[in-house]
Amino acid sequence: MNIPKTSFPRVVIIGGGFAGVALAKKLAKQEAQVVLLDKHNYHTFQPLLYQVSTGGLEPDSIAYPIRKVLQNFPNFYFRLANVEEIDTENERVITNIGDLDFDYLVVASGSVTNYFGNTEIEKNSMAMKTIPQSLNLRSLILENFEDALLTSDLNERNALMNFVIVGGGPTGVELAGALAEIKKGILPKDYPDLDTRMAQIHIIQSGDRILKGMSEIASQKAEDFLEKLGVNIWKNVRVTNYDGETVTTNGELLLNAKTVVWAAGVKGETIKGLNSEDFITRGNRMVVNEFNQVKGFDNIFAVGDIACMKTEDFPHGLPMMAQPAIQQGEQLGDNLIKLVENKPMKPFEYTDKGAMATIGRNKAVVDLKKFKFQGVFAWFVWMFVHLFFLIGFRNRMVVFVNWVYNYVRFDREARLIIRPFKNRNIE
Ligand SMILES: Cc1cc2nc3c(=O)[nH]c(=O)nc-3n(C[C@H](O)[C@H](O)[C@H](O)COP(=O)(O)OP(=O)(O)OC[C@H]3O[C@@H](n4cnc5c(N)ncnc54)[C@H](O)[C@@H]3O)c2cc1C
Repeated sequence: MNIPKTSFPRVVIIGGGFAGVALAKKLAKQEAQVVLLDKHNYHTFQPLLYQVSTGGLEPDSIAYPIRKVLQNFPNFYFRLANVEEIDTENERVITNIGDLDFDYLVVASGSVTNYFGNTEIEKNSMAMKTIPQSLNLRSLILENFEDALLTSDLNERNALMNFVIVGGGPTGVELAGALAEIKKGILPKDYPDLDTRMAQIHIIQSGDRILKGMSEIASQKAEDFLEKLGVNIWKNVRVTNYDGETVTTNGELLLNAKTVVWAAGVKGETIKGLNSEDFITRGNRMVVNEFNQVKGFDNIFAVGDIACMKTEDFPHGLPMMAQPAIQQGEQLGDNLIKLVENKPMKPFEYTDKGAMATIGRNKAVVDLKKFKFQGVFAWFVWMFVHLFFLIGFRNRMVVFVNWVYNYVRFDREARLIIRPFKNRNIE
């Protein structure tokens, strides 16, 4: 990998997501050699992926070059590499571009879509976890409308204009809201010769309410907002299969749809060699202690989605969200400095800053620790928080300008089929 051996201890970080970048920033000016490995050369702001899928934002406004985040820091190395295996015995990572020894290893590899073992659903549905996947979904949605215009078969046309979102968490809710707004504001103008009122958007949720990680009032309000936008919400229904044509469920509900988005769960992205049953738990996550050390190791840590840190308030592990990832990354940075200096590490304490989701124009729900609010003010808060956490001044400006433009013009101009949809299984 052409990385020199120095007198500083080498910290290898796998993953430049929220956790990995927060950690690297903390370490960048310290007496440590930091090597960040990622299979992409950019950081992805996943909370806005749904806006890329629905033509509201260009992909480069939610991606940021990892090299640029840390370009002025000495002792920092980035390598575009896919980590294939971890040799814990020899303290070495094995990648597609070569091997690298470590003194400390931090796994911040995030998560992947969880199909719960259903390979048929995996093969036929769409995931929305990466920028290429979001662009693929954008192309599929737009191509389906082009095809709907051409077919004279009514069932085929309806299936092309049916959108089924499996999972009523923030991702499913935000995507459904965006699709409903496209149906209302854009489709009639873009496709005047197509009866776009026939387009249907469905959310299928296995539980008895959507946004089940938020308060009941937030769930109810989100449901009201979505219903007003014409979204069909199916609760207490579990999807059992999707063969590319028909969604089957555990009840009587059957839906013919050419687009099914699987937003029903994620699981940790484990890496060979560090996937022992001793510490892999529910959701494919690695059990870590209060210092983010992986069970059984002193110098191997995990942070973010991949780490399962159980606390009194979160007995199944902290939520797989940006805040725990950022906070763990930052805290581990401080702890690694302490470790190198032979000082005791500080246990991690999660500060729950709340949760939020937007349903569309002027509509959002926000749960803070002390206040819960919904509607226009919540929507402004949602926008402010997302702009604040985006990396890079240019990205913030581009997203802000796009949002103002879309708001004033009732438009989403990135509805472009740049790279035609080919197949569903891209990373
Ligand atoms: C559509 C969507 C919407 C979301 N909305 C919200 C929201 O509104 N609020 C919120 O708090 N959270 C949200 N989340 C969750 C949030 O994005 C994650 O919790 C967060 O990204 C986790 O950070 P991380 O650093 O652990 O992992 P990630 O940010 O996923 O980063 C992991 C990195 O590791 C790299 N990587 C993985 N494996 C390897 C390997 N073998 N070799 C090299 N590199 C590797 C990946 O390329 C990636 O860059 C959303 C997620 C999605 C998918």
